[in-house]
Amino acid sequence: MRFSAFFFDGASRAFHHRPTFSKLVVILAASGGGLVAYADSKSDHAIESSRVAPKKKVVVLGTGWAGTTFLKNLDSSLYDVQVVSPRNYFTFTPLLPSITCGTVEPRSIVEPIRRIIKKKGGEIKFWEAECFKIDPTSKKIHCRSDIGTNLDGNGEFLLDYDYLVIAIGARANTFNTPGVVEHCHFLKEVEDAQKIRRSVMDCFERASLPNLDAEERKRILHFVIVGGGPSGIEFAAELHDFVTEDLFKLYPMVQDLVKISVIEAGEHILTMFDKRITKFAEEKFQRDGIEVKTGLRVVEVADKNITMTHKSTEKMSVPYGMVVWSTGIGTRPVIMDFMKQIGQVNRRVLATDEWLRVHECNGVYALGDCATISQRKVMEDISAIFKVADKDNSGTLTVKEIQDVLDDICIRYPQVELYLKSKQMSDIVDLIMDSKGDVEKESVELDIEEFKRALANVDSQVKNLPATAQVAAQQGNYLAKCFNKMKDCEESPEGPLRMRESGRHHFRPFRYKHFGQFAPLGGEQTAAQLPGDWISIGHSTQWLWYSVYASKQVSWRTRALVISDWMRRFIFGRDSSCI
Ligand code: FAD
Ligand code: MG
Repeated sequence: MRFSAFFFDGASRAFHHRPTFSKLVVILAASGGGLVAYADSKSDHAIESSRVAPKKKVVVLGTGWAGTTFLKNLDSSLYDVQVVSPRNYFTFTPLLPSITCGTVEPRSIVEPIRRIIKKKGGEIKFWEAECFKIDPTSKKIHCRSDIGTNLDGNGEFLLDYDYLVIAIGARANTFNTPGVVEHCHFLKEVEDAQKIRRSVMDCFERASLPNLDAEERKRILHFVIVGGGPSGIEFAAELHDFVTEDLFKLYPMVQDLVKISVIEAGEHILTMFDKRITKFAEEKFQRDGIEVKTGLRVVEVADKNITMTHKSTEKMSVPYGMVVWSTGIGTRPVIMDFMKQIGQVNRRVLATDEWLRVHECNGVYALGDCATISQRKVMEDISAIFKVADKDNSGTLTVKEIQDVLDDICIRYPQVELYLKSKQMSDIVDLIMDSKGDVEKESVELDIEEFKRALANVDSQVKNLPATAQVAAQQGNYLAKCFNKMKDCEESPEGPLRMRESGRHHFRPFRYKHFGQFAPLGGEQTAAQLPGDWISIGHSTQWLWYSVYASKQVSWRTRALVISDWMRRFIFGRDSSCI
């Protein structure tokens, strides 16, 4: 009796990860009493295991920048981890534009997620499927696989979670412009980049066919890029290099007919960069013959024409051969549905707090392009901050009282530090002295109104983080570290003082560190905007770009492949086969 109770209760859990061993015990049990002694010798261990609380279930959605960085840094022995993604690989997205023209091969920038999992000891389970519904009430997610069917015959399955990490990124934003989905290329996934590469080659071959008039050849060789952001501009530059360095030699008869246009709704391209970079890029494109049309909004894309409007002019239609749509990101349907369920209507992305927890949704975290941190404003909490700081309940704050909570305020509200920096002040006391005028530091006492006045403008420094790989990866890393020390921090919290409740937050809030941004402009020239407003443009920056992107690869395998692709391109040029 004791044997069977042990087997069915404790062992099924204890040997969960050791099917061969549990099978062995079954055989031993069936073959008689002499072997009970063997089972007994293991029973102490099994009973002990049965007392250990089951691991919490962590479900990760997505294997992009945020999801993969989270997995790589998570101590997966602490949790029962499952990953769901329709792609069984991670993509190094900054090199996607290089795929479009064959500078780098697709397989060089992807890493199978199962290799990443294997390096972590293989305890993580991966399911190639997409999540189509999140049910936060019952803590379940609904998934669907494209590649197979299950016993129900539809490939759908449910997963339970204790913690859900949503990192499913975003989709291309068409702004519901008619014809975009049907006729334009996007540049979000490896498949998109491969399609663009084939399409570019098709255009050159089609334009070279006999019995076409010059107008038709010109139309086919008009490449249009909608959107003057970093991806669109990098693609335009890549395409220009491909065409001038490789294709002109192979298609000399159509050389004079090729045109590349960039259409941007704003007044300039690359507006997220410093003005010096924007100016350099616009001038370089002009020299290269890439037409940059600003202030134009695309209203419709038809089979062979793209229609735009300008503030001062009527609609105009331009014939094209290929359009790449690169105008920013939109929300995935599963996120929109989830936002409706949790009352986040009329939002573009999921809102989280500074610890990446989805508002009002226990155990759910969101990071990367599908989420945005809504930073708590100082002014919303000003009375609570005042109360926490006013330790002696005198109704006024002395400089010492403020200094005692200063660190907590700066950690909880990073905008305070940014504001001080923008005013070239070293601490909050300077701000207060500034608002109080000419008084002795020691004699300063502030009432709530004066405190409010001193901090009135700090919230102007609150900014949304950009939708970049840099942000997503830092968030994945941060969240994994929080998960790794969850137990320790519950016992001894490391975060700042809670302003509206008692005690401390378990963790420090997420803090983004910007390491700079590149804008490759073609012709072996790149612009870089580095922290501290440091701008660098030219050939030497291109080498910096090569070394940064080589070093940022997720594995030595992809690093070796990418570097060898770059060398192959230097020696032999890019390949022009329509594969
Ligand atoms: P993603 O990396 O997009 O990953 C989302 C993951 O979720 C994918 O694995 C996807 O398959 C999966 N998924 C989708 N739907 C579901 C679902 N329903 N269920 C489960 N899983 C799902 N950023 C930079 O910082 N520097 C650059 O140079 C740069 N260049 C870029 C160039 C291009 C062409 C593009 C498109 C982007 C570039 N970015 C760059 C931006 C960067 O790629 C994104 O900000 C980053 O990928 C966001 O990471 P993420 O993890 O949120 O989403
Ligand atoms: Mg006081």
